[in-house]
This record gives sequence, structure tokens and C-alpha cells, in this order.
Amino acid sequence: MAITKFKKIMAANRGEIAIRIFRACTELGISTVAIYSNEDRLSLHRYKADEAYLIGQGKGPIDAYLGIDEIIDLARKKDVDAIHPGYGFLSENPEFSLACERAGIAFIGPPPEIQQRLGNKVSGRQVAVEAGVPIVPGTDSPVETEEEALIFAKSCGYPIIVKASSGGGGRGMRVAQNQKELLEGLKSAASEAQAAFGDATIFLEKYIESPKHIEVQILGDKHGHLVHFYERDCSIQRRHQKVIEIAPSLDLTQKMRTEVCGYALKIAKTVGYVNAGTIEFLLDKERNFYFIEVNPRIQVEHTVTELVTMRNLVQVQIRVAEGYRLADPEIGIKNQKDIELRGFAIQSRITTEDPNNNFAPDFGTIKAYRTAAGFGVRLDAAAGYAGAHISPHYDSLLVKISTWGLTFLEAAKIMHRALQEFRIRGVKTNIGFLEKVMTYPVFLEGNCDTSFLDNHPKLFE
Ligand code: ADP
Repeated sequence: MAITKFKKIMAANRGEIAIRIFRACTELGISTVAIYSNEDRLSLHRYKADEAYLIGQGKGPIDAYLGIDEIIDLARKKDVDAIHPGYGFLSENPEFSLACERAGIAFIGPPPEIQQRLGNKVSGRQVAVEAGVPIVPGTDSPVETEEEALIFAKSCGYPIIVKASSGGGGRGMRVAQNQKELLEGLKSAASEAQAAFGDATIFLEKYIESPKHIEVQILGDKHGHLVHFYERDCSIQRRHQKVIEIAPSLDLTQKMRTEVCGYALKIAKTVGYVNAGTIEFLLDKERNFYFIEVNPRIQVEHTVTELVTMRNLVQVQIRVAEGYRLADPEIGIKNQKDIELRGFAIQSRITTEDPNNNFAPDFGTIKAYRTAAGFGVRLDAAAGYAGAHISPHYDSLLVKISTWGLTFLEAAKIMHRALQEFRIRGVKTNIGFLEKVMTYPVFLEGNCDTSFLDNHPKLFE
């Protein structure tokens, strides 16, 4: 397979991840193209690219970034060689990657067939079974009637979690403790998923009490070589959405780490995975891993993996999309042993959410903005400056702070210090809440599971 060196890459996204992609490209000597909606005309990602174009006029703030034909037409006209989809928006849409392929533009991610097989949770579970990887006990196929749901409930017992096959970001999920909640949950999860993802397909899983969320970063080249970049522990969640992520997990023995990374590679091998992806698992109190889903794209929390493996994942994504082998000097991963784990990293998502008002998103203009800096601190932000306008149209992520230390305690201390250094005025943020977590004994002992925040209301006082 010949190598196609990219000269120009478009980020079909906005915000911090678009900027993250541009930075990776610039360092590789590749020029960059931004797209922006009318609502984003003053947004920083527009100014961080070599070229920027307004898209989706009259379509609205979200739909602007979902217009496949318009984005591909623009990319063609501007001689774009490859498109990086980031996360969210079109990143998991096989129609988009197919349209790129047809237009002769490289899609920096897995090909459409793989997105199709892994992109929804029901078919992802089927792949895991094929790979011989344990899954959470659940229904083998979508649940279409109340009767089917009740039959499953009878065999599995409560609590049960109702999940939308296309769900993401914690949406389209309901926990049911009894029959009444199950029947209600079926309806409400389906309608939420239909509205958010255009797909009302629902399935059921046994609800595992207070598990840990452990996920493995994988990456494959186009020549059949696959590696993992170890795990992240993303157990600190609010409403099933990640808030703080850690790499590596403090809680895994070496044997467990080998086990879960092995499971991830088995799944990746089964589909012939190409480019970057994350295989997500739950770890129950009896120390069993269960596959839950695959995210066939770069994730928000990839930064912590980059810090502990010292590998630039977005650049590796670009290189494998150009056709390089992992072992080529441009990437330099001859085998799994070349990926070393060093130290600990923590990521905190600073959001414009008000912890004193049930984390309601806040909007407005940032009046003062002073960042943290110094040893061990990495910042990824898009609206990180005084005068930036925080609009209600997009998600509330303001800055990702990632810190690195030789020990977990050191990384946590740096994070605490960095959070204290931050000053953001004009919009409410969750900084005070994150600071409390960084000094909280349960957190420092590495003992957080997915019910940590629910079980420690003191953190919200
Ligand atoms: P999403 O795609 O919305 O992120 P996931 O399937 O990845 O949904 O699950 C998100 C979170 O929801 C998990 O990290 C976990 O906290 C919770 N969760 C999902 N499935 C289960 C389950 N079967 N039992 C207990 N918790 C679950």
C-alpha cells in the first residue's frame, strides 16, 4: 500500500478538539482547514486554522456541523486531502466516512464497515461475543415489546438498565428497580434516544451495582497491526457522564491490566480494527470485566493516555491514515513493548456548570480568564480567554486540564494547585467542586467507582 502524505487536513468539528487536531497537523507540517457555524463565527477554533469557512447557513448551530454534502463539497473545492471528525457530530457516522471515501478524501478514523459493526451497542455486544469477551448479561437483540422486556426481567432480576443502542454521553439510559420503572424506562429512553440520535432502538442489561468504568485505548494501522495504549479509569461520573479521568487505573493488578487490554485487542482483531478507538468495560466488585461498548473515534479523555505513554495519538491517527505502518519510523511502534507506561495522569473537565444550581449550564461572556501553568500541566481549551462568548448552543466543556506526576498523589496535587490558580469570571464553573474532589480521601486512595459522586454529597456543598 502506497503512502499518501497529506498536505491539508480539515477538522469537521469545533471547539477544543478542532484546535487539538490543528496543533497535531501544524507540527507535522500539514496545513489546516476549519469549518464554523454562524453561531461560531467568533470562536477560537476558526482562528487557529490556516483557512476557515462558514458552513450551514440557515441550518442552526448543531445541524451546520452535520451537513455531509456541504462539508464534502467544501473539502473538495479547497483541495483537502483528509478529514478528521473529532468526537461527536459526524465522527461515528458511516455515511460520512463513506462519502469521504467516495469523494477521494481520506477519513481519519475506522472505515465505514467497522463503524457500522461497532458504532451501536447492540452490534458491539455481538462482536464481543464473537471475540469470546464477556459482556454484561443482557438481551441479545433489540427489545421491541413490553413482553420481551418482562421475560428478560424475570430471568435476570432487578435492577436493570434500559439502554439506547445509539446512545452516548449518558443519554438514552434508565435504571429500573422494578417492573413499573422498567415499563416507564422503555418509553422514556426510546423517546429520548429518538430525539437525540434519530434511533429509538432499545436493549436491556443487568444493572451492575457500583462498578468501575475501565476503558482501553487501541490503535491499528492499515496493515493489520494492532496495539493498545493501556487503560483509563473513568469511574468519576455524573449522570453516567465522565467528569474526571485517570490513567492508568490505580486499582488494577498487572494481571488484571493484561486481562482487560487483551480483551480489547481481541475485539479489535475480530473486526480488523483500523485507526484509534476505545473499548469500554465495567469492572464489578468481584473483579470481573464486562465489555459495554466501543467508541470508534478519538475521545475527550485521550489526553491522559498521551501523557502516560508519551505518544501523540492524534498524530498517530494521521500517520496510519496516510498508510504508514505502526513500525515505520514516522510512528515508531515496532511492537507492544514500545508503548511504555510512565507515571499517572488526571484529566478534569472544567465546565460552565453551576454546582450550586444542580449543574445547570451557564452562559455569557467571560470577563476575566487567568490560566494555570507550570510543570505537569496541560490545557486544551477553545473558549479560554477574556471576552469569549459562551453560547447555550453547544456542550458546556470549557477547558480540559490534564496533569502528570510520577505518582498519582503528585498528579492530584498538581491538579489541585492548577485548579486553584485558575480564575474564570463572568460564567459559573465547576472548578470549586473539582478542587474538593482532588483533596478528598476516597479519591486519593483510588477507590472511586461510578457511584462515588452520588454517595458523597458533601462534595456538592
Ligand atoms: P454512553 O454511550 O452514553 O457513554 P455507556 O454504555 O458507555 O453509555 O455507559 C456509560 C456509563 O453508564 C458507564 O460508565 C456506567 O457508569 C453506566 N452503565 C452503563 N451500563 C451499565 C450497566 N449495565 N450497569 C451499571 N452501570 C452501567
